[in-house]
Amino acid sequence: MIAYIEPYFLDNESDAASVLTVTGRSSDGVSESLNIQGEILCGGSAANIAGKDFGGMNCVKPLAVVRPVGPEDIAGAVRAALSSDKLTVAARGNGHSINGQAMAEGGLVVDMRSTADNHFEVGFLAGGDGGGTAFVDVSGWALWENVLKRCVSEYGLAPRSWTDYLGLTVGGTLSNAGVSGQAFRYGPQTSNVTELDVVTGNGDVVTCSEMENSELFFSVLGGLGQFGIITRARVLLQPAPDMVRWIRIVYTEFDEFSRDAEWLVSQKDEASFDYVEGFVFVNGDDPVNGWPAVPLHPDHVFDPTRLPQSSGSVLYCLELALHYRDSDSNSTVDKRVERLIGRLRFDEGLRFEVDLPYVDFLLRVKRSEEMAKVNGTWETPHPWLNLFVSKRDIGDFEQKVFKELVKNGVGGPMLVYPLLRSRWDDRTSVVLPEGEIFYIVALLRFVPPGAKASSVDKLVAQNQEIVQWCVKNGIDFKLYLPHYKSREEWIRHFGNRWSRFVDRKAMFDPMAILSPGQKVFSRAL
Ligand code: FAD
Repeated sequence: MIAYIEPYFLDNESDAASVLTVTGRSSDGVSESLNIQGEILCGGSAANIAGKDFGGMNCVKPLAVVRPVGPEDIAGAVRAALSSDKLTVAARGNGHSINGQAMAEGGLVVDMRSTADNHFEVGFLAGGDGGGTAFVDVSGWALWENVLKRCVSEYGLAPRSWTDYLGLTVGGTLSNAGVSGQAFRYGPQTSNVTELDVVTGNGDVVTCSEMENSELFFSVLGGLGQFGIITRARVLLQPAPDMVRWIRIVYTEFDEFSRDAEWLVSQKDEASFDYVEGFVFVNGDDPVNGWPAVPLHPDHVFDPTRLPQSSGSVLYCLELALHYRDSDSNSTVDKRVERLIGRLRFDEGLRFEVDLPYVDFLLRVKRSEEMAKVNGTWETPHPWLNLFVSKRDIGDFEQKVFKELVKNGVGGPMLVYPLLRSRWDDRTSVVLPEGEIFYIVALLRFVPPGAKASSVDKLVAQNQEIVQWCVKNGIDFKLYLPHYKSREEWIRHFGNRWSRFVDRKAMFDPMAILSPGQKVFSRAL
């Protein structure tokens, strides 16, 4: 039946003819083939929605964009693809991938946005250890930003584990991991969901959890969209604090920075900050890459005379946050902060702090987004590189990459901070370096408007150089938000988990219909 779809869409490139509301009444064969209640867009409209992503380095034409009204429509799209000889299906979250991971060249893209409001319900886990723990059921397309605002304003509750930027979708981050400064305590976002509704690559609509259809549950978490499309997620909540003390402290030596960061993430729950991150910056007055990137308030001044003579080309900043309630007195908060910070060996006089509402703290990257939109760097290409590097090798990595290859900065943040492997569930599809402590490294490159394509190519080449250097030197690392072109690279990426990944694919998406933009598997013929 799908044979009807392809010529139809391919012959209709114009916008005017590109929106079809499929009601079951049309006689063009499309509705019968797709059998969905939602909308289908094709031609230029489809390419406008699904032909680009945040990375801005890939541009592909989907056959059509499907706007489902619910899981049955998504299952309809998958079944239509199954009955064709080559169609694929990609769920598209907010399109914030870097390397075309949410694209489907010549395939169907499911624009999950149309399902954003399908779920929002707070409840409590019954019985057992989890008894009394609050959760919220949200749609796979829900933006974390909206989950935050509704949970806090309507219930005084909030998810426990975040990403730095919240303009991302629940299904999109759960397909990767979802990491920020809370992950050392609660694990990534994939460790903070207890139940999912999923449409598999077999076209089945399945509810799964640790206890029910558990193989599917753990496959999908960190599964790069390869096993199913998440339509609902049950996200654990905690009472939301009112306020946050947000602190940045500066280090000259990486050894001291990493020793303090590792100490902080290894403390028991109440004995540390609620958020621990870190970044590298250039020892100079460059407004984007240097000293001005550190202060948290326009009144703060970074005084470079405070730096020791021995300081090198790059410096390190630990970023910390402590939650508190409106009812806590200033002196109580000060005491809790001083007790922790008193043990840290940062450069005296290079400490910056502000107090702000919890929601504003979590939305802090939104302000950067607004600025980037004004200066044009939100729309330009973003050749980002994200890696997990083992504690064993982070010193060598730091010497080579931060002190040499990117010592002049990347036009945006260069994050580096430790995480604990024991907070990640190794039944999920995510792969990590060995050892309890590993670092996330993120080179978040921003390119000025008008930059030549060749300069973007150079940045991509530098990313490849970093990855190649890691491989050649036996660095224990994994790409986060991985992007590879060859099967050999994927096999190396997954290591001894490759056969599990392949078995899961055979179980839940045997025709390799789903998320073709990840380029892990080819559509079976
Ligand atoms: P998309 O890019 O649209 O999709 C990502 C992948 O998931 C695709 O393969 C897609 O097919 C699949 N997918 C999408 N929705 C679903 C679904 N419902 N079910 C199954 N598969 C699905 N990551 C962090 O961990 N921490 C951060 O702090 C962080 N900050 C970021 C800041 C910015 C500005 C950007 C652009 C990205 C950031 N990321 C961060 C990366 C982010 O987690 C990924 O881009 C992720 O892909 C989420 O983006 P998205 O929701 O737009 O998903």
